[in-house]
Amino acid sequence: MTTMASGFLTSLRAGCAGFCRPLIPLLTLICLPLPLQAASPLVAIDFGHTLAAHGATSARGRGEFHFNRDLGKALAVALRKRGLRVRIVNGDGRIESLQARPAAAEGAELLVSIHHDSVSAQLLKAWEWQGRQLDYNDDYAGHSLFVSRDNPDTARSILCARAIGARLQRMGFVPTHKNGLLRAYADRELAVHYYDGLAVLRHARMPALLFEAGVIKNRDEELLLADPAYQAKMADGMATAIAACLQSGVPADDEAGADRPDVLPPATGGD
Ligand SMILES: [Zn+2]
Repeated sequence: MTTMASGFLTSLRAGCAGFCRPLIPLLTLICLPLPLQAASPLVAIDFGHTLAAHGATSARGRGEFHFNRDLGKALAVALRKRGLRVRIVNGDGRIESLQARPAAAEGAELLVSIHHDSVSAQLLKAWEWQGRQLDYNDDYAGHSLFVSRDNPDTARSILCARAIGARLQRMGFVPTHKNGLLRAYADRELAVHYYDGLAVLRHARMPALLFEAGVIKNRDEELLLADPAYQAKMADGMATAIAACLQSGVPADDEAGADRPDVLPPATGGD
């Protein structure tokens, strides 16, 4: 504590009448130097893909990286508004490797990798937009979440993914189950899948999840996902869930119990 602050508190204790005594602990906390106060959780936000290899291409020809960056920035704003600390990973879109992403997140309590979904090539239909020959698919829409059982804290990863899924659905966002045919569910209702081999998740030394915000090959959903108001609303829901998960969430089971066996839906399932 600084000399000035401790002098102030000493004179406060000496001169404080009964009515202001309850305030002393609060004033003591305010006067403490920052490193002595409990630090708020640090969240690493990874912008998926790069400028050079931008991931999927939207129905209107825009690279996925740009969608990831926009939503990632909105999430950073929403988390900081709640008092959480944020570190951006791959902010300039030039990160050198997949392994560099979790390495850059070292020290964070959660790594969130932001992505946008596509559909498989055989489902694409051709269309022309502003003179360009492009492709689209309007049959699939919605968000989904992924965790890895090769991450050292699968239970907390699942908890944070579930919290996000639950909060978004409560706000009216609808998940997709298009990934349920290939990726087993950790939580079917909340569209949380296992994707053990994802480098960004399995190399992370902290809980980690990958968020697919929506399907940018869908012409209507692409417009929503590109809308700053929609991004801010989605980011707000994610931030509420992340804050709850990190500050008061307790995983329901130990890690072994949280990991359910893979159960894939029947071949006719999915949407
Ligand atoms: Zn992606």
